[in-house]
Parts: sequence; C-alpha cells; structure tokens
Amino acid sequence: MTYKAEYIWIDGTQPTARLRSKTKVLADGAEPPLWGFDGSSTNQAPGDNSDCVLRPVFSCPDPVRGGNDVLVLAEVLGIDLTPHPSNTRAALENVARKYAAAEPLFGLEQEYTFFKDGRPLGFPAGGYPAPQGFYYCGVGADEVHGRDIVEAHLDACLEAGLLISGINAEVMPGQWEFQVGPLSPLAVSDQLWTARWLLYRIAENYDVAATLDPKPVKGDWNGAGCHTNFSTKAMREGYDPIVAACEALGAKADEHVRNYGAGIENRLTGMHETAMWTEFSYGVSDRGASIRIPWQVAQDKKGYIEDRRPNANADPYVVTRLITETVCSAQL
Ligand code: ADP
Ligand code: MN
Ligand code: MN
Ligand code: MN
Repeated sequence: MTYKAEYIWIDGTQPTARLRSKTKVLADGAEPPLWGFDGSSTNQAPGDNSDCVLRPVFSCPDPVRGGNDVLVLAEVLGIDLTPHPSNTRAALENVARKYAAAEPLFGLEQEYTFFKDGRPLGFPAGGYPAPQGFYYCGVGADEVHGRDIVEAHLDACLEAGLLISGINAEVMPGQWEFQVGPLSPLAVSDQLWTARWLLYRIAENYDVAATLDPKPVKGDWNGAGCHTNFSTKAMREGYDPIVAACEALGAKADEHVRNYGAGIENRLTGMHETAMWTEFSYGVSDRGASIRIPWQVAQDKKGYIEDRRPNANADPYVVTRLITETVCSAQL
C-alpha cells in the first residue's frame, strides 16, 4: 500500500515569497525523504543549473486528503545541502538554538482577505459596501462573508494538529484572522506557513482566493497585519523584562520594520489601528502604538507584549528571528 505526501515549500519570489507544493507517493512505512524540484520555475535557480533540494522539517496529517496522507513542510537547500539563499528558516534555527534557555514563545495573529472576481468578498461590483463599523466579529449575511471557508479552514487546521487558538471576522468585509500559538519560534513559524497553505487550498474548493496583501483596498479600509505576541520566561514572570523588551525593540525599530513585510509603509500609516512606520512607541492597551502591552499584562505585572507592526505578508521565520535576537541579546 501507499500514502501521499504533499511537500510544501517557500519559493524565491521577491519581494514576497509564495508557497508551492507537489505530491510524492510513498510506500507505507517509508519516511518522507529528501526530494528535489525545478528551481528555475520558482525564482530559485537558473535554467542551466536548476535543481534544488527539499528537506522535510515539519509534517502533520493531511486534512484535505485524509486517511494516512500527510503534509510535509520542507526547507529549500542547494544541491550541496546547504541552505538556499531563499531559506529564511535556517537562520532562525541558529538564533532559536542560541537563545533556547530564554524560552521564547510566540502567538501570531494572521489576518487575510478573501477575493473573488477581483474584489474582496462582500464588495459589490464596481463600488463599495457600507463603511467599516459592524464587520469586526459580526454576524449575519450583511456583515460577514466567507464564513463557510473560515470554518472549513479552522477544522482542517485542528485535524492537522496545528495549535490554532482562535478565529475572528475582521474590520473590513471579507477580512478574517486566525491565531497560531503560543509556541517556540520554529514551531509557530512552521505551523503558520502550513496553516497559510491550508487556507489557500481550502479556499480553492470554494473558488475563492485568500490573500495576505497588507493593504488590499486603498483608502479608509483597514490593512491586514500579523500581530506578533511574544514572551520569554523572564517576561512571563515579571514586568521589568517586559519594559526592557519594548526598549530593546525601540532601539532597533528601523531594522525590524524593514523586515516585517513588503509594502509596510502603506499599512503603518498611523491610521486604522496602526502606528506610523517611521515612529516607534509602546503603551498599555494602546492599539495605536508599535508595541501594545495588553491591559491584563500591566495588571498582572507579567505576561507578554504584542508587536503590532508585522504585515500579513511577513515571513514568520524572519519576524520571530529578529524579535528573539533583539530582545534576548539585550536581556542576557
Ligand atoms: P488581540 O486582542 O490582539 O486580537 P488575539 O487574541 O487575537 O489578541 O491573540 C493573542 C495571541 O497572543 C494568541 O495567539 C495567544 O496565543 C498569544 N499569547 C498569549 N499568551 C502569550 C504569551 N505568554 N507569549 C506569547 N504569546 C502569547
Ligand atoms: Mn487578534
Ligand atoms: Mn486582528
Ligand atoms: Mn492583535
């Protein structure tokens, strides 16, 4: 007997990488092996030297195919088996190892927008729906669009064993969010990429496209982010390390913002629950700050912080690496 392994990897498209996948049929009992692909079709290699290598890094049951079939998230290597330049996971692996004693944990809030016929789901042809105000966590056909897809995606993630902590309808019609975590930097990032693939794949069944565009509609419509909640063991036990983490992030604000997803200046405008991308601030309960300290955390004098800057299209391997490095190097 055989089973199917869907190998998923991140391509080399700039400035925002895309997900690719293909299927390998394996004998029952066989582990998913190293595999290869044509890097010249994924912006990862020239045509005359096109082979790239896939190395499995995370696998889970495939909720789409069911049975014994699996999803296999793979990192991309060159044929010398060193990390490909497009492989951002390898650098995170080093940083996560270096700061493992600090026990960093991340919870990622992935916002996204459904599109159909070239416009967000729920937008009328050639016009705009009623202004924002009732869509966030709304109910009813006049307020929410795509709930069946969202529910199917949530069930699929849970069947796959991913640590999804919740979902909600967002501020713009057709816009939604799911949260992954809290988990270690590598685990949360592997699971987010897998959950993104499942989102695209499930929405395909409904003939709808899911997009991580950080500003899908210009004007008075919320963008889409990937708020990144973060703590170390020390932050989970006391308040001084929380303030120190905010200060450390402030000292490297430019480097972080430049690596938090393409088009970030269109989203971090200082409007729509964001802080201006050129400025850094942190505050308790402040959804207009770069970093929010949740009210409960200020109350308990321990917990975590929320970096509100990362775009929906950010690479979690890059975001969690930068935050871990910046905060843990300052606190050790
Ligand atoms: P918001 O109020 O900003 O919409 P959400 O409920 O969407 O918040 O997301 C909060 C996230 O914070 C969840 O993903 C959760 O897993 C994460 N989280 C909770 N506690 C911690 C912690 N100690 N460290 C890191 N992340 C945490
Ligand atoms: Mn949220
Ligand atoms: Mn949100
Ligand atoms: Mn948030």
